[in-house]
Amino acid sequence: MKKITIAIDGFSSTGKSTVAKQLANKLKYVYVDSGAMYRAVTFYAMKSGIISDSFFNVNELLKNLKNIILEFKFNDKLGFGEMYLNGVNVEKEIRSLDVSKLVSKVATVPEVRKVLVEEQQEMGKQKGVVMDGRDIGTVVFPFAELKLFMNASAEKRAQRRYDELIDRGDNVSFDEILKNVQYRDHIDSTREDSPLYKAEDAIEIDNSDLSLKDQFNFIYKIVQKRINES
Ligand code: C5P
Repeated sequence: MKKITIAIDGFSSTGKSTVAKQLANKLKYVYVDSGAMYRAVTFYAMKSGIISDSFFNVNELLKNLKNIILEFKFNDKLGFGEMYLNGVNVEKEIRSLDVSKLVSKVATVPEVRKVLVEEQQEMGKQKGVVMDGRDIGTVVFPFAELKLFMNASAEKRAQRRYDELIDRGDNVSFDEILKNVQYRDHIDSTREDSPLYKAEDAIEIDNSDLSLKDQFNFIYKIVQKRINES
């Protein structure tokens, strides 16, 4: 069967990665979480004293870019690739609220985007890839055979993210998660380089009131049709 490229974009915590993982498992495609790459660069910058709540030394980050080696290593038990930063698994660390608070600032830096976009294009060049992020259908794979744009109300999205963080034992409040989701929506969709917007040929899906199962069934039908057509 012909392999296609599936680009999934949308606002923070719209369940992009959940559906991307489901599709990749079902189709035996590679799943790439591009947000994990921006998060890992941010985590590196935090650890190296390059960024904090009160400052961001962009030049220092640019000098260090060549020292940041990112890899996804497939975890059989989880069924997806986990993020490794310079050989260390940082999957848990990069999901923290501290990283979420700073990642959108790092993601505005054009030089950071250029490096990560090249790596993402390299990972997808054989097709058979499902990638999620903010600029996948617009910048990384503008010719993807299928583009999805996910949306849901900010409150629903914050609730999902809050439940995830509470489940793993983080001490966070719903209000700060909601603020973070709204803050990232704003920065991500108003930045100059590669802002988040729906590609003209993307299919928009609002999953505020869709169960995971219904959402997957709906999307999988679209995917099968696209594969047959291409
Ligand atoms: O997808 P996730 O919420 O983990 O992404 C974290 C952040 O990384 C986003 O809020 C955005 O600032 C940035 N990002 C981006 N472009 C992508 C993926 C993520 O700018 N393709």
